[in-house]
Amino acid sequence: MKIALLDIGGTYIKFAAAQDEKPIEACEEYPTEGKKGGPHVIDRAIGLLEKLAPFDGIGVSTAGLVKDGYILYANENLPNYTGMNIKKILQEKFGVPVAVENDVCAAALGEAAYGRGRENPSFLCMTFGTGIGGALIHEGKLITQGGLPVGSFGHMITHKGGRLCSCGNRGCLEAYASTSALVQAVQETTGRRLNGREIFTAFYQGEQEIQETVREWMEEIVCGLFSIIHILNPSCIVLGGGIMNEDYIIDYLKKELYDRLIPCYQEVQIIPAQLGNRAGLMGARYLTEKLLTEG
Ligand SMILES: [Zn+2]
Repeated sequence: MKIALLDIGGTYIKFAAAQDEKPIEACEEYPTEGKKGGPHVIDRAIGLLEKLAPFDGIGVSTAGLVKDGYILYANENLPNYTGMNIKKILQEKFGVPVAVENDVCAAALGEAAYGRGRENPSFLCMTFGTGIGGALIHEGKLITQGGLPVGSFGHMITHKGGRLCSCGNRGCLEAYASTSALVQAVQETTGRRLNGREIFTAFYQGEQEIQETVREWMEEIVCGLFSIIHILNPSCIVLGGGIMNEDYIIDYLKKELYDRLIPCYQEVQIIPAQLGNRAGLMGARYLTEKLLTEG
């Protein structure tokens, strides 16, 4: 059984093939060219899938809210993507079953099936990048309500009347605690546009302005997690996104949270994701295998 996998993000499309029980084969990535619009993105996706043909099924992890295989909502990074029925388009083009899932949910399902979930069947997943994504996994299954996932923690308002968020409102957690918010804050304090890795290099080298900015940013994450833990009482929180590869962040969050949480909530485990930037593809694989074996 061969499955073609796509991970359509705002910046890159990743694609790979998975054969039988083997690990996914070499994963390649190409610019999404999202600003050219949804139909262009799908044409690119079809072009990449043709390179992998023949296959028995297609698994797609994609930016945007997904319901029944179509895009219910996508932001301005992918204009005209909203409303596209990806499942139907790809099924008609290739004549094989297609599974489509939102990228955050796919990453959480990937972790559940092949990563952290092997030791923690229930966990809350948060990914830090351009925004903050969230998903809840209970006993290996994604929690949904009305066909949509639960856990858009990024749009929890933590600053009344604060910074403008990508959702159009003000003061959302992701406007303060996402990786983009950190990059922006560093630019404002130092005048330099650094990526996450460069920021942490400067942090470890002892640059004071950057250390202060990073600590303020981590405090924003602590505030968000503090609220979420008291609301949901999760047994485990898995933190994803490239920036969470910095052990320093995980150690800081653990220390600050365990000091502040009401004692009965201190049992929560806080751990980094395990599958890195392949989590979305792995989740898409899991869903497609399920589709092909269970019908
Ligand atoms: Zn928002």
